[in-house]
Amino acid sequence: MNAHQPAPYAALSMYIDGQFIGNDSRQGEPVFNPADDTILGQLPHATKEDMDRALDAAARAFDQWRWTSPLERSRILRRVAELIRERADIIARDLTRDQGKPFVEARHEVYSAADHAEWHAEEGRRIYGRVVPPRTPSVRQTVVRQPVGVCVAFAPWNFPFNQTLRKISAALAAGCTLIIKPAEDAPSAAVALARLFHEAGLPPGCLNVVWGVPAEISNYLIRSPIVRKISFTGSIPVGKQLASLAGAHMKRVTMELGGHSPVLVFDDADIPRAAALLARLKALNAGQVCMAPSRFYVHEAVRDEFTDAFTKAFSSQALGDGLDAGTTMGPLAHKRRVGVMEQLVADACSRGASVVTGGKSLSRPGNFFPPTVLIDAVDDSRVMQEEPFGPIAPITSFREVDEVVTRANALPYGLASYVFTRSLKTSHYASTRLEAGMVNVNHFGIALPETPLGGIKDSGVGSEGGSETFDAYVTTKFISEETA
Ligand code: NAD
Repeated sequence: MNAHQPAPYAALSMYIDGQFIGNDSRQGEPVFNPADDTILGQLPHATKEDMDRALDAAARAFDQWRWTSPLERSRILRRVAELIRERADIIARDLTRDQGKPFVEARHEVYSAADHAEWHAEEGRRIYGRVVPPRTPSVRQTVVRQPVGVCVAFAPWNFPFNQTLRKISAALAAGCTLIIKPAEDAPSAAVALARLFHEAGLPPGCLNVVWGVPAEISNYLIRSPIVRKISFTGSIPVGKQLASLAGAHMKRVTMELGGHSPVLVFDDADIPRAAALLARLKALNAGQVCMAPSRFYVHEAVRDEFTDAFTKAFSSQALGDGLDAGTTMGPLAHKRRVGVMEQLVADACSRGASVVTGGKSLSRPGNFFPPTVLIDAVDDSRVMQEEPFGPIAPITSFREVDEVVTRANALPYGLASYVFTRSLKTSHYASTRLEAGMVNVNHFGIALPETPLGGIKDSGVGSEGGSETFDAYVTTKFISEETA
């Protein structure tokens, strides 16, 4: 498949009780291409009746799916992984069209989702219980883990294929059924996933995909007594709202929320290597990655060397439509985020920072904002306090290891973090004290299917991936039986 071959954009629909619906006159919203502002398609919104149908279907399906053998669930997930790989280019092309990321990145996202499906297919076969030695021989005590029930998930727009697939895989592999509301901004990915699961033989009702006004959907579904668990990936304010509502109705939550990942570059680090890696990570998905490096604390002795090398690599990105050959950084997914980037730069500069490169939006259609490096950003500037979620890298300097760890830990975020040093002692000191759910030392090694991904503090609750992935999808039941 040639990435540049014109082909129609995905037919958008909902997926409820095994049927693709919504290609009628119901209300909806247009979907835009962030690279040129053109309209790609019309997304149907769910009515209350649609949501009731999805709830009813998920509840009915749960009664069957929970007793389906883990081997059979595994077989379906494996088939989905195969289909993902077969259709990767078609899925990736639509992902680039509605989300904006370069085609190469979209393809990578799709292939990595196949890995997640396969891993969950295997790990779902290992949801074990245990036997507790009894106090009397006539009693048998077992602890079993059972699927929690119908789940509702809200997936984000930055990795709409991978993140949606991860939520679906974890729920289904654990024996739960699911209603998912993916992000309306980049909907082709979830529609493609629904088609793949349908084709792989997933029974009707196990997976349901609905779209609509996010607050209306979440309000309705989270309150429903049918729903037992909520999973959300997105911003902290929305996560807190949904977690409060879930708490009021005593439902489990997994919250994967925003981060503002500190990067600690020590004076003994391999500076060219650190700068090249960080520039590449920062440019990924135009910086719209929850674990992107986003606050750069560089030892004063290597500040200039690092800033020069980083700026050179980061500013060399080729901005453009992700389907154009050679594009290495696409547009931001939303127009509103371009304005936010400009405000963050203006605020930092008003407090003494200087723009080393970038800083201004481009006068062309689409939501383009260039790679931007700010030097001497003070700790209380907005860009050092608020997750930029875009291609801005604020750099500041430090002197002492305990000083920089304290500064890094000063914010309420606690998702990812980065440390660059050749000293084992410094690495150990920083990695054990950084308040973050994940620490990368001298490389990027997180977000694999087999490793837990999750935040602490305001960055969330629970983990996706790793053997922890099923914790929120299963309940623990203790059974004590008198056997004689
Ligand atoms: P936003 O808070 O407006 O929306 C974030 C996501 O939440 C969107 O997908 C939206 O559809 C959904 N949402 C909003 N209100 C909701 C509600 N009441 N119920 C259910 N879903 C709801 O933020 P934004 O401007 O779209 O994105 C920027 C921010 O989002 C960033 O600062 C970042 O923190 C966060 N974000 C984080 C991740 C992540 O991977 N953790 C992914 C995407 C976005």
